[in-house]
Amino acid sequence: HQAKVWEEVDQYITEHLIPHDPILERTLAANRLAQLPLYDVTPTQGKLLNLFVQMKGAKRILEIGTLGAYSTIWMARALPSDGKIVTLELDPFHAQVAEANLSFAQLSHMVELRVGEALQQLAQMADEGVEAFDFIFIDADKPNNSKYLQWALHFSHPGTVIIGDNVIRDGEIINEQSEDDRVQGVRQFYDLLAEEPRITATAIQTVGSKGYDGFMMGIVRY
Ligand code: SAM
Repeated sequence: HQAKVWEEVDQYITEHLIPHDPILERTLAANRLAQLPLYDVTPTQGKLLNLFVQMKGAKRILEIGTLGAYSTIWMARALPSDGKIVTLELDPFHAQVAEANLSFAQLSHMVELRVGEALQQLAQMADEGVEAFDFIFIDADKPNNSKYLQWALHFSHPGTVIIGDNVIRDGEIINEQSEDDRVQGVRQFYDLLAEEPRITATAIQTVGSKGYDGFMMGIVRY
């Protein structure tokens, strides 16, 4: 019953606050057609990312975990015309679907999609001397979350906003005995956030069409 209400309320919010958008809707349809896993952010969450990027006035965004670029498109839309997103994706098929969606959205010129293990890509980016980012969205394999956070800090400057998705996991994150390595990955992520002086953060529990979960938001200290 509860899950049904969450879903209907999400629909209600979407109908009122998120105008029909052929590009975003077609992106989700293309991802379903290609049978990508159902891990895209929801429309209300995509809009939230878009608002965060605007609030930050970000010009350079790093995304870890592209899937079909649905979240990428939401964020890219909040960028100024000289803005840029670097997005990392392991699966070449996901990347192919993402490239097609970005091209249809006419955003390819602002997005650099790097295909491969995110940890390898990040190390390579460090070697290349890639500049710091203003906004970083961590949304890939959860067991590596703390490593992604460490890299996110590497690619930050004072004031960089870092968001992590799926940090509640139906409340499982309080279960220390959990045998789910995604839960343990998220728990390590909290431990690192707790002890890492360079970032100040909180996490917000959310319900909606994708169930009970939540996101972490933090800012790299000035
Ligand atoms: N941000 C996307 C959105 O909201 O539309 C959803 C991303 S989905 C939750 C996670 C993505 O991370 C998947 O496409 C998966 O293939 C990718 N991924 C998993 N492990 C990875 C790794 N080691 N390196 C890079 N990407 C990885």
